[in-house]
Amino acid sequence: MHKLLVVDDETDICDFVKTFFKDRGFHVFTALNGEEALAIAKKERPDLVLLDIKMKGMDGLAALRHIKELDRSIKIIMVTADSGLP
Ligand SMILES: [Mg+2]
Repeated sequence: MHKLLVVDDETDICDFVKTFFKDRGFHVFTALNGEEALAIAKKERPDLVLLDIKMKGMDGLAALRHIKELDRSIKIIMVTADSGLP
């Protein structure tokens, strides 16, 4: 079973995305910040990470760097709800 790690600082988004992918056969882990994401990545070695960019503490870009240092084969998709509009 493919392992997916969903990282977002909003619990609602984590829960929604988790349910969506669980229903489609993925083994889903969730993390609410970069530190938690890195700990889970170390332990579980997910195939894919959906990584929120804007988070308090370790943000998505820092987490991306750390996860890639840990294991370059982990695929990461950066996600943001920010439209970029003023
Ligand atoms: Mg967010």
